[in-house]
Amino acid sequence: RMVFVNGEYVPEEAARVSVFDRGFLFADGVYEVVSVLGGKLVDFAGHMARLRRSLGALDMEMPMAEAEFLATHRDLVARNALDEGMVYTQVTRGAADRDFLFPPEGTPLSVVSFTQAAALVDKPAARRGIRIITQPDIRWGRRDIKTVQLLAASMCKMAAKKAGKDDAWMVEDGFVTEGTSNNAYVVAGGSIITRDLSHSILHGITRAAVLRLAREARMTLEERAFTVEEAKAADEAFVTSASSFVTPVIEIDGLPVGSGAPGPVAARLREIYIADARASAV
Ligand code: PMP
Repeated sequence: RMVFVNGEYVPEEAARVSVFDRGFLFADGVYEVVSVLGGKLVDFAGHMARLRRSLGALDMEMPMAEAEFLATHRDLVARNALDEGMVYTQVTRGAADRDFLFPPEGTPLSVVSFTQAAALVDKPAARRGIRIITQPDIRWGRRDIKTVQLLAASMCKMAAKKAGKDDAWMVEDGFVTEGTSNNAYVVAGGSIITRDLSHSILHGITRAAVLRLAREARMTLEERAFTVEEAKAADEAFVTSASSFVTPVIEIDGLPVGSGAPGPVAARLREIYIADARASAV
């Protein structure tokens, strides 16, 4: 694989980042994952807007113009002959002597990008649905910033694996915040319910697209927090993310959701989303 490191394309074996990189020492960095369908980038502009916002919230600026990020993404897709999968990009505050204070102004940010091939459309999880458990949300208070500080989510996902399940939904004060790496939804009383945007959750790019498409299809939406009890009693549940698109949830804490099989709302949204993503990819 060829990867991008600070302006250069190098074979992954030759790629190097400093041990003093603040991403490594402080998790002082942010990332984006752009999915690739048919060799094209899905919702690239949305991911760049969020990257700019995440950096801004941490007092960093875009290290290159959006057009350069686009060129880099396209170069990586071409050099690695990627048809389906993702491009991961990480921007950190760069390398400096270890200090809680930020490095002096002018310290260059680190930029790393790489591709990862994966089947996104034709996936057993999408056909069969996933089983999840609930876990306390022990993350920090700015989950809207897409930082590389992912240990809490990683531990929740490991807890799910140990329980023989696929993923976890995180819970705070009785309300579901989101999945370990996706936004969470339930369908109840004919409406699609997902948590409203705040500092408590990541503002999913797939979430924004799915809500827009659901509105265009005249489906009923409610953006509000929902409880674990509500989720367990719902007709359907599903998650969204750049790499999972729309994926049905068929079990929560050992209890079947609805009939225990993937539901029609999730199936329809997945189909509409993939068609739109393919048509608008760049
Ligand atoms: N929430 C969390 C915590 C995530 O890590 C992700 C995926 N990175 C999402 C939601 C979904 O965001 P997106 O649709 O932009 O991939």
